[in-house]
Amino acid sequence: MNEYDSNRIYDSLKKIGYNKTENYEDANCYLLNTCHIRDKAKEKVYHEIGRVKKIFRSKKKPLVIITGCVAQAENQEMLRREPYIDLVIGPQSYHKINDTILNHIKKRKKIEHTDFDPFSKFDYLSKIKNESSKTSSFLTIQEGCDKFCHFCVVPYTRGPEYSRPFKQILDEAKNLIDNGVKEIILLGQNVNAYKNEKYKLSNLILEIEKLSGIERVRYTTSHPKDMTDDLIDVYKYSKKLMPLVHLPIQSGSNKILDLMNRKHNISEYLKTFEKLKKINPNIEFSSDFIIGYPGEEEVDFNDTMKLIKEIKFVNSYSFIFSPRPGTVAENLEQIDKKVSIERLEKVQDQLFQNQIDMNKSLENNVINVLVENLTDDKTQVFGRSEHMTSVIFNGKESDIGKILKVKIEKSNRSTLFGKKIETLNQKVA
Ligand code: SAM
Ligand code: SF4
Repeated sequence: MNEYDSNRIYDSLKKIGYNKTENYEDANCYLLNTCHIRDKAKEKVYHEIGRVKKIFRSKKKPLVIITGCVAQAENQEMLRREPYIDLVIGPQSYHKINDTILNHIKKRKKIEHTDFDPFSKFDYLSKIKNESSKTSSFLTIQEGCDKFCHFCVVPYTRGPEYSRPFKQILDEAKNLIDNGVKEIILLGQNVNAYKNEKYKLSNLILEIEKLSGIERVRYTTSHPKDMTDDLIDVYKYSKKLMPLVHLPIQSGSNKILDLMNRKHNISEYLKTFEKLKKINPNIEFSSDFIIGYPGEEEVDFNDTMKLIKEIKFVNSYSFIFSPRPGTVAENLEQIDKKVSIERLEKVQDQLFQNQIDMNKSLENNVINVLVENLTDDKTQVFGRSEHMTSVIFNGKESDIGKILKVKIEKSNRSTLFGKKIETLNQKVA
């Protein structure tokens, strides 16, 4: 979501004359868009500002802006602690960014904006063209969270659940397609909780895939509790919804899910899994796992390992629990760090093995690949399979944006390597 936000902030700043530079030293405005989900996010920001200070020691100080969830969580404190910072703007106040900058340039006043006003933000941003023209582009449809898992800062940094108006989203999707976008990834912290008037995520997917020019639709990140039957049924009808369901489970133990305040259990998750597999056995699952949550015993961890083997999760994320300021789990007694590291390694080994197995099973098969760009050395092309796996093969620049049939010849854990299948027409041409 920060990638989407950064691009939208840039679309806005262009209106007051700012342009991106690849060269730090050239910048007269330095904007750091931050994430607060894990680790020492706050300290990383101050460290980065220290680096900027050094770069600009003998130059004119740039305007320094902190945006994102660390800005939201730290607000006024950032301006007090680090005088080098000029403006602090939280994720639901980006509609104020241009005026705030112009005002600062005139009056030199340090300002912090951290209200939760997603309605005004999206109303403002919807009037500014989304300039993204990558083959695969993000589109935020929902933000915030009302679920309050005990480990998570999102409800405090992104605010309550908010779903953008249906038409506003469709207009942005049309605009992206006009820019040449072929795949849209609908985004939200709880994307499947999307609800605006009578519309749900299922309606949105079916409407977007009708737009001429769109080839693929994905959505992330979902909560298991919001995996409702109407959304599951979309997999029966949809032609363009990709068969990879990212559905974070966090742990394979009901006891831990309960301690986390996840509001779902393993058997409910398995029911969703079975329903989707029945509709389309080709659907694969990916997930997020938190390892070493306070209270996790060997038996709980073994349940997580069992589930990973049973569902054969691919393309997943796993992290050691990181206590976040202001959350219920912040002050819980933590389990031994060494034990957590050992467990994380086991989980990652199993997830890697699942990925290796899936990739290996595709060797000698022909799959559909959406081509995104040339490889760094420009000799081949990079694209993604329907299950989001990286594919490298012998394409050319004019293939970018096309879905091509590729015969997979080799694979490793992260990537499939293959050859383009020439169609009869292409051969004649
Ligand atoms: N809303 C989605 C859900 O509930 O399944 C997940 C979105 S959350 C913003 C992204 C992921 O970050 C979570 O699924 C979780 O695995 C991870 N995460 C969040 N807080 C964490 C923490 N305190 N320590 C470790 N991982 C964390
Ligand atoms: Fe965080 Fe997701 Fe839980 Fe909301 S549902 S609190 S975003 S992990």
